[in-house]
Amino acid sequence: MELKRFMVGMLQSNVYLFYDANTKDAVCFDAGDEADRIVKFLDENALNLKYIVLTHGHCDHIGAAEKLRLKTGAKIVIHSEDVEMISDIRINMSDTFGLGKVEFREDITVEDGDSLDALGHSMKFIHTPGHTKGSVCIEFGKYLITGDTLFKQSIGRTDFYGGSMKQMYFSLIKLGKMNPKLIVLPGHGETSSIGDELRTNMYMIKACMDK
Ligand SMILES: [Zn+2]
Ligand SMILES: [Zn+2]
Repeated sequence: MELKRFMVGMLQSNVYLFYDANTKDAVCFDAGDEADRIVKFLDENALNLKYIVLTHGHCDHIGAAEKLRLKTGAKIVIHSEDVEMISDIRINMSDTFGLGKVEFREDITVEDGDSLDALGHSMKFIHTPGHTKGSVCIEFGKYLITGDTLFKQSIGRTDFYGGSMKQMYFSLIKLGKMNPKLIVLPGHGETSSIGDELRTNMYMIKACMDK
């Protein structure tokens, strides 16, 4: 399984594109902006995009999803509680950020504990509300894609629509119990691991100490 990261758009959100160089299948996690750049890479490597998995419904993570789907036929996956966000320009904030009208529909909704197979691995969905109601982290091989829930030494804001510090706290406890070796791929910024976050992330330390 190969991994290519793109940092896209004004808010430099991460797009993680996984692919199998033999079967040519690919999966991407979030698609905030710059669909053309992602399509170009897919074309150059003759990859077939199967899923566009959205960690949550904010525009900086979903802005290129519809264009990418139209160009590739991939299926858009999102947690049921963030479905409302992808068709509402106010709560996905695409009007605020002037990213044009981001409005589309999902193909597949997931719940906590669901899994989907891709590239010979299982994508396991962990519901981690707090940043939004339907934020998810996805365990995929040795990786954990965390969206705007967990960043390297920080966490996502909880003051937007659907956010809750209390829920974030329980989500952090949930993540703190996962395999410390999991490589954290956040929605913004650099890579980390659950073990490193348990040692250095003050929010994580506090949540997991109090429990
Ligand atoms: Zn967000
Ligand atoms: Zn974001």
